[in-house]
Amino acid sequence: MDVTNNGAGVAVAPDVLCLRTVIANVCFVGKPGTSGGEWVLVDAGVEGSGPQIRQVALERFGRDRPPALIVLTHGHWDHVGALAELCQHWDVPVYAHERELPYLTGRRNYPEPDPTVGGGMIARLSPLMPNEGINLGNRVRALPEAGAVPAMPGWRWIFTPGHTPGHIALFRAADRVLLSGDAFITVEQESATAVLRQEPEIDGPPAYWTPDWPTAKWSVAQLVKLKPAVVAAGHGLPMRGPELQRRLETLVTDFDRIAMPPQGRWVPEEQAGAPIPATPPTVSAPPPVVVPPMTPLPPS
Ligand SMILES: [Zn+2]
Repeated sequence: MDVTNNGAGVAVAPDVLCLRTVIANVCFVGKPGTSGGEWVLVDAGVEGSGPQIRQVALERFGRDRPPALIVLTHGHWDHVGALAELCQHWDVPVYAHERELPYLTGRRNYPEPDPTVGGGMIARLSPLMPNEGINLGNRVRALPEAGAVPAMPGWRWIFTPGHTPGHIALFRAADRVLLSGDAFITVEQESATAVLRQEPEIDGPPAYWTPDWPTAKWSVAQLVKLKPAVVAAGHGLPMRGPELQRRLETLVTDFDRIAMPPQGRWVPEEQAGAPIPATPPTVSAPPPVVVPPMTPLPPS
């Protein structure tokens, strides 16, 4: 079910490449080639991955072709780590959901990760992860309200809070490509063994750092309704194929068992069998997404 790695990232569509930076993925969205149009970087990996990201950008788009902008699914350390370095080379704006801006403008810190959720070594070590917000100043901008993404024609951002207050996913209806960020992921991120082997698995957001489970569940349900044909998440190898939808539906119907940890300071007391909220409890509903009929993916 996983998509083959070609050595310098994984092609999830002809114009979408997913690249792993140690433990977190970034995506390059835009037609490859030196004469193409604009391209966009989605997320900015772990600290120190700037040279790797710039090298792949150079090979894919040519010299002196910075992205039009960088879009963040959210502001956790492993998705913004190379931002400072990348912005030294690429003087480009950064876009995120307006509810994520306090964490990107130095006004708020994320809660400290919860090492008691279980699941493995990475969860136990999660208190070592930086939870401080960063300050991008006026480089960071709010995504337009209607769901369009600047420099990404055909894509929409989907509001998927829960893992963080302003988390977004990105979806292109024409070929049903979904970049899910950490709303759901394709590896058991709590386990160092699973992460090292990149064992493919559909899982909820990283448990040690998801403070609002009812909202996270609502968000997963919204994404599964889109019936993605291929998914590149913030962690794990991209996935596609007929198994994908079945396993995503299982994730929604069995979310409490598959995604939610058995214990932890954010686990609701009455979690078992709780219905999916009609609207996320802490936020207003985002605009609906219109999904056209399924069209087959071109071979890649
Ligand atoms: Zn995260």
